[in-house]
Amino acid sequence: MTAEVHGFQTEVTKLLNLLAKSLYSNKEVFLRELISNASDAIDKLHFVSLTDAALLGDDPQLRITVKADKEAGTLTVSDNGIGMTLEEANTHLGTIAKSGTEDFFSKLSGDEAKDSQLIGQFGVGFYSAFIVADKVTVVSRSAYAKPEEGVRWESEGSGTYTSEAITVAERGTSVTLHLKADEKEFLESWRLREAIRKYSDHIAVPVMLWEEKYEAPEKEGDKPRSSWDWVQVNEARALWTLNPRDVKDEQYKEFYKHLTHDFEDPLCWAHNKVEGELEYTSLLYIPQNAPWDLYSRDQHHGLKLFVQRVFIMDEAEQFLPPYLRFVRGLVDTNDLPLNVSRELLQESPVTAKLKKALTRRALNMLEKLAGDAQKYGQFWRSFGAVLKEGPVADYANREAIAKLLRFASTHNDSSEQNVSLADYVSRMNPAQKNIYYLVSSNYQQASSSPYLETFRKKGIEVLLMWERIDEWLMGAMTEFEGKKFIAVTASDLELGDLEDKAEQEKAEAARTENKALVERFKLALGDKVEDVRVSDRLFDTASCVVSKQGQMLTGQMRRMLEAAGQSVPEARYILEINPGHKLIEKAAASDDAAFGKWAEFIFEQALLAEQGALKDPNAFLKLMNELMA
Ligand code: ADP
Repeated sequence: MTAEVHGFQTEVTKLLNLLAKSLYSNKEVFLRELISNASDAIDKLHFVSLTDAALLGDDPQLRITVKADKEAGTLTVSDNGIGMTLEEANTHLGTIAKSGTEDFFSKLSGDEAKDSQLIGQFGVGFYSAFIVADKVTVVSRSAYAKPEEGVRWESEGSGTYTSEAITVAERGTSVTLHLKADEKEFLESWRLREAIRKYSDHIAVPVMLWEEKYEAPEKEGDKPRSSWDWVQVNEARALWTLNPRDVKDEQYKEFYKHLTHDFEDPLCWAHNKVEGELEYTSLLYIPQNAPWDLYSRDQHHGLKLFVQRVFIMDEAEQFLPPYLRFVRGLVDTNDLPLNVSRELLQESPVTAKLKKALTRRALNMLEKLAGDAQKYGQFWRSFGAVLKEGPVADYANREAIAKLLRFASTHNDSSEQNVSLADYVSRMNPAQKNIYYLVSSNYQQASSSPYLETFRKKGIEVLLMWERIDEWLMGAMTEFEGKKFIAVTASDLELGDLEDKAEQEKAEAARTENKALVERFKLALGDKVEDVRVSDRLFDTASCVVSKQGQMLTGQMRRMLEAAGQSVPEARYILEINPGHKLIEKAAASDDAAFGKWAEFIFEQALLAEQGALKDPNAFLKLMNELMA
């Protein structure tokens, strides 16, 4: 049979084109990626051999080997793991199976620095071989296949690859890199040894390097004798099985990269060995940056599951709630059976207990991280919007999560979300009983909202929010440390002692004085409004609309539901007017025919400020032009 030529999936070609350029400064990572793949292949074989020992054949010593051939200029990384069939090689090495791949590539900007960071996050895996090689040959045989069902796959990394069925004597995969002329350093034993130790010391599988060993000459003056042999270069003790006190930060970081294929260091980690009723070891990490598919419905997440140190599965989502889906890492337990399946896992009470414990661990890790404002800021920018799903989804941990939330606030001059609820409470005016917040459609709109006028005047801090999730979040947050959450758009602000006597009297006088005007508005607007009243929250703005706390959807939520095609009950607001404002004075002075138009206009502009949009902007403009003319 002759080799067939195949074209790579478009995205692979794009990745290959970018790779050498973007990751060049970090080129030795190809070894980490190939060794990680080899170790995954061995883990998979180990797992299936638990129930089918025959798969190990006469080759039960699972290991990875690395061999340089100086004459041929090649470096070969081999494993006796699960292997690949011809079809598997074609799909796994010719396409990127991740969902959202296309989307990811459309995000690349052409700016090399930025793109290389993104590419690192994407996880280039096998393709990293092309950073240092101008040709890659893969020879493999699946553990399930006969010798004559082996495969040879080859590519120069530019658009196409070839593959063919060949006979392969042994199970497993060999990846041979034909090194580029200026990458010959990767043929040197010391260079390989150094890189392998750095990247693979604490993976569980032994990595053997083909090395020349020197012995003293028999007679003085003779040349030293040498022989070649396989030498194990990594410690091969799974990192999480070590005592946390014996593990250096550098090792945790390298292990994270091995585990996740992320090119950046993790932001923090938590390594716990727990004995007692529930026995498990967990190693949890938080990445610095969000993966590109964080919000994609079929985003891959979850922990790696080991049972009694044996790898069982990747992406076991059962151990953490979705609002902690950014946490990476592993859990190793003695309390589940080795033959546990995803279905069994779903039903096991052990899973539920582990989930509870690991959720606490992850939240604790965040609590600790919050002590470092700079790192926590980084965390919040990457994952804050995901954590905000927490109070809605996890009632039991609502308080712990509330402490981890960060908001923008009128206390700051920027949209930076760095105010905790504890910060807010500590700054509260002694007479203040509630936590005030405003949800709007963006920071600009929130920070310039007329609803803030009275709060600014009284020096009361207001938390500002504008993310999609915020309405849901605030729907679930009723109080924090005994303080109620009140939206500044609520009809009753419950300002209590914050209002001074003089102000109250003034407001009362304004209400009495403008009774007739209010009636005129009510008459003109009819059913369009729930009620009309004189405002005591406005100073520079003519009007606003408010709603009864908890009774109505705010503008943002309404728009979202409408966009999702849901029928939304018609909003009925209370209109508040500011009688001291020029516009209201003008309306009050006009005759009944003109007053109808003024009332309409004053109401519509209040709606615009609250909702950020109008149902019929043209009608509004027409009305405005009429009044101005
Ligand atoms: P990832 O490891 O993130 O899935 P890679 O591009 O590194 O992406 O590898 C793609 C796929 O190729 C792997 O998921 C695996 O199925 C297969 N593969 C790569 N290396 C090996 C190997 N040494 N043994 C068996 N399969 C492998």
